[in-house]
Amino acid sequence: VAAARVEDLTKTYGEGDALVRALDGVTLDLYAGEFTAVMGPSGSGKSTLMHCCAALDSATSGSVLIGEQRLDDLGDKALTRLRRDEIGFVFQSFNLIPTLTAAENILLPLSIAGRKPEPGWYDEVVATVGLGDRLKHKPNELSGGQQQRVAVARALVSRPRIVFADEPTGNLDSRSGAEVLELLRSSVRDHGQTVVMVTHDPVAAAYTDRVVFLADGRVVNELRDPDREHVI
Ligand code: ADP
Ligand code: ADP
Repeated sequence: VAAARVEDLTKTYGEGDALVRALDGVTLDLYAGEFTAVMGPSGSGKSTLMHCCAALDSATSGSVLIGEQRLDDLGDKALTRLRRDEIGFVFQSFNLIPTLTAAENILLPLSIAGRKPEPGWYDEVVATVGLGDRLKHKPNELSGGQQQRVAVARALVSRPRIVFADEPTGNLDSRSGAEVLELLRSSVRDHGQTVVMVTHDPVAAAYTDRVVFLADGRVVNELRDPDREHVI
């Protein structure tokens, strides 16, 4: 079952001589219950693909479906609801709210939706990201690695159908990186979520079920059940 489909997606920036084709006809099915890595050189379109899939940016042509819903067909209200209820996103720059504590940031998607956390899952997510007493601190009192863990916890805690993560382990040492990857993998294996992660790290990619390689805005290769040797 496809949790999301990308059909002939093109995204350009600028025009004339300054035109950049960030995505150039990407077609991709993202399956329910699968953990996918997106890899490729800097500038190959990975972040643009994540943003278009998560309805944070609109494509120039082609389409994205989340479940049965084609993003082009949705109005602003429906898009807001989709982003809030069905999609989790881990930004490269974290995008935490500076005036809220770590715990409040993690719970924000649920409070906006007027929902209560599932106690077991909240505890598991928070324990895995390992913030301990730092949960009471504001983002500017946390290291980059700790802010990244808050961002990952926030994306997972409402159990969205699909999570897009832009380099979720980019600021972590290898041990905390491994913990975050285990958390992402267990949310796929044990809870049927779909996770799509941009990474440069072959070790991180080896945690996934599938690796999609981008170059110059196109899908150029794909691997299933990668191990480290394959990805390198
Ligand atoms: P990646 O995530 O693989 O590094 P990006 O999706 O960030 O790649 O960028 C793909 C291409 O689009 C690059 O050439 C980049 O410079 C360009 N690009 C991305 N965002 C913008 C923007 N807001 N304005 C102009 N060009 C952009
Ligand atoms: P990490 O490996 O998680 O990135 P660091 O080595 O950067 O952690 O930080 C070490 C310790 O210093 C952490 O316990 C963190 O909470 C604290 N720390 C880092 N940056 C800041 C800051 N700007 N304000 C307060 N504490 C900080």
